[in-house]
Amino acid sequence: MLRLNEVKAPLDHNEDVLIQAIVDKLSINRDELLGYTIFKRSYDARKKSNILLIYHLDVVLVASAEAKVLEQFSQQSFVKISPDMSYELVCKAEDDFPNKDQQRPIIIGFGPCGILAALLLAQMGLRPIVLDRGQDVRQRTKDTWDLWKKGKIDTESNVQFGEGGAGTFSDGKLYSQVKDKRFLSRKVMAEFVKAGAPEEILMLSKPHIGTFRLVSMVEKMRTEITSLGGEVRFGHKVETIHREHNPDDSGQITGLTLSSGESLYSRHIILAIGHSARDTFEMLLDYGVYIESKPFSIGFRIEHPQSVIDDALFGEQAGNATLGAADYHLVHHCKNGRSVYSFCMCPGGTVVAAASEDGGIVTNGMSQYSRNERNANAAIVVGIDPEQDYPEHVLSGIDLQRDLEKAAYKLGGGDYKAPAQLVGDFLQG
Ligand SMILES: Cc1cc2nc3c(=O)[nH]c(=O)nc-3n(C[C@H](O)[C@H](O)[C@H](O)COP(=O)(O)OP(=O)(O)OC[C@H]3O[C@@H](n4cnc5c(N)ncnc54)[C@H](O)[C@@H]3O)c2cc1C
Repeated sequence: MLRLNEVKAPLDHNEDVLIQAIVDKLSINRDELLGYTIFKRSYDARKKSNILLIYHLDVVLVASAEAKVLEQFSQQSFVKISPDMSYELVCKAEDDFPNKDQQRPIIIGFGPCGILAALLLAQMGLRPIVLDRGQDVRQRTKDTWDLWKKGKIDTESNVQFGEGGAGTFSDGKLYSQVKDKRFLSRKVMAEFVKAGAPEEILMLSKPHIGTFRLVSMVEKMRTEITSLGGEVRFGHKVETIHREHNPDDSGQITGLTLSSGESLYSRHIILAIGHSARDTFEMLLDYGVYIESKPFSIGFRIEHPQSVIDDALFGEQAGNATLGAADYHLVHHCKNGRSVYSFCMCPGGTVVAAASEDGGIVTNGMSQYSRNERNANAAIVVGIDPEQDYPEHVLSGIDLQRDLEKAAYKLGGGDYKAPAQLVGDFLQG
C-alpha cells in the first residue's frame, strides 16, 4: 500500500473526480488502482472562489504498478510506502494476575490521561484501579449545571473534576501540535471511535466531538475497563502518597490514603491529576516530590457571530457542510517581547464558567458536535512565565491564578457568572 500526499479535489466533488486525481498524480491506468482509504483530509481556502479539499490517501495498486510508481517517484516525497500504524500492547498479563507477589496498578484521575492509561492497562490484563475525586459523568453533568444555572459550586464535582476530566464540557477538539511519528494518536482515535465517536475523526485534520458525545463515550470506555477486570471508583480523593523511607531519601512508592481514611497498597501508581488539582500539587510538594514551575498563558474570551468568521474565510461557500464552521488562529508579537494569541477557538459554541474552587471563576468555550450555535468564541491570551511574572516560589503561579479568579468572581457579581463587557468599550479603555 502507498501513502499518497497532497491530492487536491474541488469542494463537493464526486468519487470519480478523486479517483481521476489519484490516477493522474501517479501516472497510472484506472484499472491499476484497486482501492483507497482516506488517511487525512483538510482544505485550502486561500482562494475563496476555488476552495480545495486536500487528501492524504492510502492507495492499493496492482503489484506491478506499485513497483513502477515507487521507482518513478523515488526522489519525491509525495508518495511512499504506507507506514505501519498498528498499535501493539507492550505486554499481556497471565490469566491469574495478580498472583501473590503482584499488585494491581492504581491510577489517580479519570481524565483523558487516566482513561487511556486505564484502558491500555486493562487491555493488557493488569486490572487497574482508578480513583477520581469527582463523580461519574451523569452526576457530574448535574453538578455542573447547578453551577451554571443556580450559581452553586461543588468543589469536588464540576467542570474540572470527575469522569472524563477537564475537557468533558468543552469543544472536544481532538488534535494537538505534537509530532506523532509512531502514530500513537491513531490508537486513541480508534478507541474513541469504538466508544461512539464518528469515524470521520480518523481522517479529519482538525477533528472534534462536542460535549454530548463525549459524555456517552467516556461511559463506554469505563464499561470496557470494568469488563476487563478494572475498577473505577468515583468520589475517591487521594490525600497522601506513601513510600519507603531509605537513608539516602530514595524510596519506592508503596500506596496511598484517601480522604475517607482508607488506604490502598500498590507499588505502581500513575498520577493523572491534570492542571486543576491545586491541593494535590501542594500535597505532593509537601511530600518532597520535585515540581517545576512552568510558563502558561492568561487572558479573556472574545465572542462574536460565527457568520462573520464563516464569511471571511469561506466567502460564498459559508455554510457548506463539508467545511463546517470556520475557525481561526491569530497571533501578535508585541515590541516588549510578549506574544498575544488566540487559543482554543470554539466555532459555533458558548462561553461557560469553569470553576473548581469557592469564590473564583475562569471561562472556557463549549460546543456541541454540530457547532451550529450563533456565536463563536476564542481565548485571547498572553504568555507569562515564572521568571518575570511569578518568581516567588514554585507554586506562586497558582497564587496568581487564584488572585485573578477571585477578582473576576467579584466583578461578575459573585454568583459564578463571568464578568463581561463589549469589545468597543474595552478598546476605548
Ligand atoms: C474547561 C476546559 C475545556 C477544555 N477543552 C479542550 C478541548 O476542547 N480540547 C483539548 O484537547 N483540550 C481541552 N482542554 C484541556 C484538556 O481538558 C486537558 O488538557 C486534559 O483534560 C488533561 O487531561 P488529564 O487527564 O491530564 O487531566 P484532567 O482532565 O484534568 O483530569 C484529571 C482528573 O484527576 C482527578 N483528580 C485530581 N486530583 C485528584 C486526587 N487528589 N484524587 C483523585 N482524583 C483526582 C480530577 O477529578 C480529574 O477528573 C480543556 C480544559 C478545560 C479546563
